[in-house]
Amino acid sequence: MSGLTKKIIYADNTLSTLLSVNEGALVSYADISRGLHRYIKEKDLKNPQSVHLRAQTPAPSEPAPTETVAEQACRDCGEAIPTGAVYCDMCGMRQ
Ligand SMILES: [Zn+2]
Repeated sequence: MSGLTKKIIYADNTLSTLLSVNEGALVSYADISRGLHRYIKEKDLKNPQSVHLRAQTPAPSEPAPTETVAEQACRDCGEAIPTGAVYCDMCGMRQ
């Protein structure tokens, strides 16, 4: 058995919290390593900027908002017509 997996470390309050074990439990270096990784992952403590591989990946860009034509309601029939239109497309009323 490797020394890393021998339960020879006494978990104090901090360590027991980190590893989700009872205070006073005996843990191994392997347990601590595993617990640390899990803790970091759970708490999302890894700074993505410090990871070179992820730093090179461009952040997913926000989808560009679809171009929408500004509309207004016709003064007469209330249909949506392009803002600034002189005549309503629906009823022909001058705006
Ligand atoms: Zn109209």
